[in-house]
Amino acid sequence: MKINVLTLFPEMFDALKTSMLGRAMEKGLIDLNLVNFRDFTYDVHHHVDDAPYGGGAGMVLQIKPIKLALDSLSKTGKIVITAPQGQTFTQKTAQRWSNESELTFICGHYEGFDHRVYDLADEVVSIGDYVLTGGELPTMSMIDATSRLIPGVLGNAMSPKEESFSDGLLEYPQYTRPADFEGQKVPEILLSGNHEKIAYWRHQQALSTTLHFRPDLLRHRQLSDEEKKMLADLERLS
Ligand code: SAM
Repeated sequence: MKINVLTLFPEMFDALKTSMLGRAMEKGLIDLNLVNFRDFTYDVHHHVDDAPYGGGAGMVLQIKPIKLALDSLSKTGKIVITAPQGQTFTQKTAQRWSNESELTFICGHYEGFDHRVYDLADEVVSIGDYVLTGGELPTMSMIDATSRLIPGVLGNAMSPKEESFSDGLLEYPQYTRPADFEGQKVPEILLSGNHEKIAYWRHQQALSTTLHFRPDLLRHRQLSDEEKKMLADLERLS
C-alpha cells in the first residue's frame, strides 16, 4: 500500500519505521511518502498559516500549500483529513482502508484548517473526542492500525482475526508461563489440551469481558443461541 502524508513535521513519522511496520516498509508492503507542504510555499518566510478572518486567537492553515502539495502527487487514492470534527476512526475503518492500494492523509496543526480544505477530502476522521496539537499522532495511529491488517505485515505467527473488535467483541484473557505465579493460577481449561473446550471458554470470556468493559458493543449484536447460553451460564456462576 502506498501511503502519502502531508505534514509540517515529517520527522515525527520516524517512529513508524521501527518494529513490524519498519519491516513491512523494508519488504515493500508499505511505501510511506512524507510530503512537507511547507515546501509548496513561495513567500520569503514560507508561511503555511495566517490569522483567521473575523479575528480570534491562533493561526489557521492556508489552503494553497495543501492543494499544491496534493497536486504534486501523481495519484492520491482516498484523501483523509484528520480533525476532531471527523467521524470516529474504528477497527472497521482500518479494515475498510486496508483494502485500498493508496491513501493520503493530511495533518493539521495550530488552530486547524481553512474550512475550504475539507472540500479536498474523501473522509474527515477523528481518533476521539479530545484535541491534540497536530494530526501527526492521529495519522500514525491510523496508519499503524490499518497497515497491520495488510496480509504479510504481521507475519504468519500473529493473526489479527481473533483480536479485540475484529468480530465485535473484546479479546479473551491470555496467559503464558509460569502456570502458577505466587499462587495466581492460569485457568485449568487452558492446560487441558482440549481445543474445543478452550475455544468455547475463550468465546465465553470474550463475551464476559465485553459485557464488563464495553457493554455498548453488545447493544446491537445479534447474540447466537450459544452466546445467550454462555452469558446465562456466566450469570448462574456469579
Ligand atoms: N481548532 C480545532 C478544533 O477546535 O476542532 C483543533 C485544531 S488542533 C489543535 C490541530 C490539528 O490537530 C487539527 O487540525 C487536526 O489535524 C489534529 N487533531 C487534533 N485533535 C484531533 C483528533 N482528535 N483527531 C484527529 N485529528 C486531530
